Amino acid sequence: VPVIELRTPAEIEEMRPAGKFVASVLTAVRDAATVGTNLLELDRIAHQMIKDAGAESCYIDYHPSFGGSPFGKVICTSVNDAVLHGLPFDYVIKDGDLVSIDFAANVNGWVSDSAVSFVVGTARPADLRLIEATEVALEAGIKAAVLGNKLGDISAAIGDVARDYGYTVNMDFGGHGVGREMHGDPHVPNDGRPGRGYALREGLVVAIEPWFLETTDRIFTDKDGWTLRSADGSRGAHSEHTVAITADGPIILTARD
Ligand code: MG
Repeated sequence: VPVIELRTPAEIEEMRPAGKFVASVLTAVRDAATVGTNLLELDRIAHQMIKDAGAESCYIDYHPSFGGSPFGKVICTSVNDAVLHGLPFDYVIKDGDLVSIDFAANVNGWVSDSAVSFVVGTARPADLRLIEATEVALEAGIKAAVLGNKLGDISAAIGDVARDYGYTVNMDFGGHGVGREMHGDPHVPNDGRPGRGYALREGLVVAIEPWFLETTDRIFTDKDGWTLRSADGSRGAHSEHTVAITADGPIILTARD
């Protein structure tokens, strides 16, 4: 039975620092990711920011049933055919790499979760299109995160954008409730039927996170036990924000400047 927790307006205000912090780390990591940067250096930058802010990593000790061992790093770095849960390793970013960074942290007892994808150096048009699709889908999902709608409206909005761009949606991993913990109910699939499912309520806080692969919807787990890669070697992109549903509309807690 899903347990869906709702936050008061005061609690949503308390969640803002975590959102701002997560946004600032993604901006810093993105700025640091140039041709020649090691993924481990990106993790080190985020780790230092966590220490300086007195924040807490949601990833470093994370060890769910599908993970081979505790994650051990503070960001996910998914490059090219990797799309989710990328375990940072000794890899130097090359010109044209498509990099997805996912980051969640706890500040003052509240979690925020966000992800961004970008190309380092010279971009292939197909990669920019794939990234754009996840961003447009995220925007559409957020726009549907309003009172009077149902969870299926968020999912359908995301799935419709995927279809418009010609991508297929993998339903194994999607968005989720966010609060005291990184993952809570409800699950927010990246496709679904409009008008179906849980009726959105004031105070629901969810991570909305469309991710698409260029020419497949199938993934496999790398031998590192974490990194999820496309089955056919095509590239993936991922965009995510933590969003509070309020009477005044959705608030993007992890909005970047
Ligand atoms: Mg995330």
